[in-house]
Amino acid sequence: MLREIADREPREANADAPAELKVGYQGEPGAFGEVAAAAHGGVPVPFASFEKVLEALGQGAIDEAVFPLENAVVGAITEALEPLASAVLRGLDLVATSLTSVPVRLALSAKQGTPIGDVKRAWSHPAALRQCTQRLAALGIEPVVCYDTAGAAKIIAADASTDAAICSRHAAEMSGLDVLIEDVSDRDQNSTRFVHLRQADHARARVPLAFLRTSSMTATTRLDVLTGATLLPLAGTPEHPVRMWVLGADAARLQALAPARDVQVVSLGQPAPHASRLPPKEGTAPAVKSLPHATARKPATVVEVGPFKVGGGHRAMIAGPCSVESPEQVMRIAKEVAACGATALRGGVFKPRTNPYAFQGHGYEALEWLAAASREVKLPIVTEVMAVDQVQQVAQKADVLQIGARNMQNFDLLRAVGRAGRPVLLKRGAGATTDEWLGAAEYVMASGESRVMLCERGIRTFEPSTRNTLDLGGMLAVRPLTHLPLIADPSHAAGRADLVEGLARAAWSAGADGLIVEVHDDPARALCDNEQALVPARFAELARALALEPNAHLPLAQLRAWVDAIDHDLAELVKRRLDVARVIGDSKRQTGRAVLDPKREAAVRRTYYEALPGAKQLADKLVDLLIEAARAQQSIEE
Ligand code: PEP
Ligand code: MN
Repeated sequence: MLREIADREPREANADAPAELKVGYQGEPGAFGEVAAAAHGGVPVPFASFEKVLEALGQGAIDEAVFPLENAVVGAITEALEPLASAVLRGLDLVATSLTSVPVRLALSAKQGTPIGDVKRAWSHPAALRQCTQRLAALGIEPVVCYDTAGAAKIIAADASTDAAICSRHAAEMSGLDVLIEDVSDRDQNSTRFVHLRQADHARARVPLAFLRTSSMTATTRLDVLTGATLLPLAGTPEHPVRMWVLGADAARLQALAPARDVQVVSLGQPAPHASRLPPKEGTAPAVKSLPHATARKPATVVEVGPFKVGGGHRAMIAGPCSVESPEQVMRIAKEVAACGATALRGGVFKPRTNPYAFQGHGYEALEWLAAASREVKLPIVTEVMAVDQVQQVAQKADVLQIGARNMQNFDLLRAVGRAGRPVLLKRGAGATTDEWLGAAEYVMASGESRVMLCERGIRTFEPSTRNTLDLGGMLAVRPLTHLPLIADPSHAAGRADLVEGLARAAWSAGADGLIVEVHDDPARALCDNEQALVPARFAELARALALEPNAHLPLAQLRAWVDAIDHDLAELVKRRLDVARVIGDSKRQTGRAVLDPKREAAVRRTYYEALPGAKQLADKLVDLLIEAARAQQSIEE
């Protein structure tokens, strides 16, 4: 058996071999993980911790990772399972591709010539030490935890003591140690099962492996009996209530059998078709992978074109006319919105109109006008394509292709924009459910374009006072299910200019990654959607309220209004700070604590230094003033 392990040593990369598969494992060369990593001809890559392995996998630095799941003597390897679960919950999209069982013989090894009677302590990875607790106790040897089995051998080799390492024979020999006892496992036939993991490679998901996130332990009882699966229990914490890994039962079956309402089944194997029906939990990653591209658990997608950057904390403002009417019109409006801090320029050249006799857009000629305006103000273009045969030509000039609400389920068009090499703004159909919207995104992504933005633009309801009803609830419901940026369109939702600002602010506060707003400098004469267009001055007010950055082309009066608005906010915040500081003072007095705390003051200063880089003096002065004002207000003596 030992030979078997040794024979499966990592192969050297060789020139005529196909592209090598880098497989990460935790530990040093000679660790049991290395054997698992080499099992399918991969090239093992060592990492100091499981977290580091996951990081490398997430960044694409390795192709695959092996994680020990279960050991024949001690069961669940919690050291590996916990970081794995938390990485998945943080959004790392992993699939389990295969399992490898590695025979484990825990060799007690020490420096050459060390008599066994002199060994008082043995070093190893905690999971390995648990596998030989009884034998070590019987030998009177105290366990010492370190990061790895093969690492323990290295430590002992470099150490002057008579301590021992518990590791594979291979690791002992690599470090020049003598093996004193071939195997100190508490049970014969010790072995560990490793899972091979890959990132977002759903086609290769083969191993039914899932974990349950639930605060209720009873929710997980009898699942082994009911499903025939192997249960790997974890302790769980209130912040990380992962209680159980389940190996051998598919997610749909777990979903059906898990008794409690609050059980979230997170699968690394096959997707759970009904998982999307679970109420999404606040702040948790999606449990669904039924649409592997649009809903995969992945870090937020950031779509970036020049100054336009949206998703993952970056926010965008797309603004411009509903339709491009003339070279002058689009140039004027482009300058206005750019001066207010818009990050992309919208404008329709092909217009989907309910009435076939209404203005249909100026087509490719207008695209040239739009492109000229875009060059002038240095903002990327967002424009709609209505037909498959427009896609290629529009994509030559436009930076982002918009799919209009009426075309959300035009699947040929979705496939065509997915192949055009441009990011896509996908409007939700007025009669489409959020699932159908995600399904449409899936079409685009499955055709090759991963930079998809989902745009909520209002759905048709019974309410006639607005053109559509902005479905912020639907937008928020999609948030935990997808990594794609979410854009809100208050203009088409409201259909009337007076409601646009309110809806825009609501969507922004609800966490929309961006907005798309229609602006026209002569709405009365606009050829399309005239009732919902904001005039530039009102767009400027909105941009100010959302804290966009104006540029120097904005007229001075407008720039002053901008700074006045900021001063107003600042003064209000100062007042709120004083009010809350007073409440804190009262609370401290009631509990007999000193009101002034130098440690807190230092922390406040740090906050200001961080927010005002390169302006330490200003930061200090502001903090001094705030403290002085709080003192005066609360009559605090020095
Ligand atoms: C538009 O953006 O001008 C438009 C036609 O939008 P929607 O497809 O949302 O109606
Ligand atoms: Mn419009």
